[in-house]
Amino acid sequence: MKNGADISKDWIENLIRDFIATSPQNTMRNMTAEPAWDDVLVGFAYGADPIWQQYKEYVGAFHWTPWEVFNQHCRQKSAGAEELTVISWVLPQRALVRKANRKAKKYPAEEWARIRIYGEEFNAALRRHVAKRLEQVGHAAIAPMLVSSWTIVNSERFSYASSWSERHAAHAAGLGTFGLCDGLITAKGKAMRVGSVVAKISIEPTPRPYADHRAYCLFFDNGTCGKCIDRCPVRAITEVGHDKEKCRQHLARSREYVKKTYKFEGYGCGLCQVSVPCEAGIPVKAAREALERGELPPPPPPLA
Ligand code: SF4
Ligand code: SF4
Repeated sequence: MKNGADISKDWIENLIRDFIATSPQNTMRNMTAEPAWDDVLVGFAYGADPIWQQYKEYVGAFHWTPWEVFNQHCRQKSAGAEELTVISWVLPQRALVRKANRKAKKYPAEEWARIRIYGEEFNAALRRHVAKRLEQVGHAAIAPMLVSSWTIVNSERFSYASSWSERHAAHAAGLGTFGLCDGLITAKGKAMRVGSVVAKISIEPTPRPYADHRAYCLFFDNGTCGKCIDRCPVRAITEVGHDKEKCRQHLARSREYVKKTYKFEGYGCGLCQVSVPCEAGIPVKAAREALERGELPPPPPPLA
């Protein structure tokens, strides 16, 4: 591709898929050198979409818009919000990893813990790769999760929150909606990891095939399910939502277990992401079928 050439959705999706298929970093680092990932969903969000401001108002002033993070870190190539696109991807957990973690009752299966560490290392490498390749063809780009000022802050409403949320970026890019446990339910389910890059490119945004940010969760759709409540070993999920602090403490305790049992430095849990109806797909039938038909929800009614 020529320097400064227009970038297409296909070019970016192929870039990501090629990296997954060929990078030696795509490994669980186990005896059989299994790949960490074998599939991806990619979506695009407009840099000037009002949803970014809504996140800021809902989560807190510390939560970046794409414009803020881009212009803080690419000062020499400053851009207006309307010149930016957020590229977001979902890496679905492989079947063998999900199957292993389904058996877990308190701490993660070895496969899951490996993905939490080595799969996420690959995800960080993928963020760097996408940003670097875009730079090489003349388009400034940054990965918000990798900038030095990315941080976690205490939040009155959410206990803690970060300056950039990969799940919220994926939601903005049409890739999924939130479940009772806070996870993002995507077309490939909730057992997955997410990544994103903000770039000075113009790509048509992916339509959001949902009118509600919880449209794919059975509990919010019709009051049923709640299976993630029972899966959580420390009761961090209840009918009123996800207790992030309880969850964080359990993750911290898992470090000792992973080191002692699997003999590497790691941690994880993800029990609420498997053995549940949203593990590997959208459990709300009408929403799943509408997505398969390519239908979008009706636009919201005009303001009174
Ligand atoms: S397990 Fe059920 S209640 Fe929990 S997030 Fe998934 S669909 Fe919603
Ligand atoms: S809410 Fe946290 S502690 Fe509970 S199952 Fe999910 S990841 Fe584990």
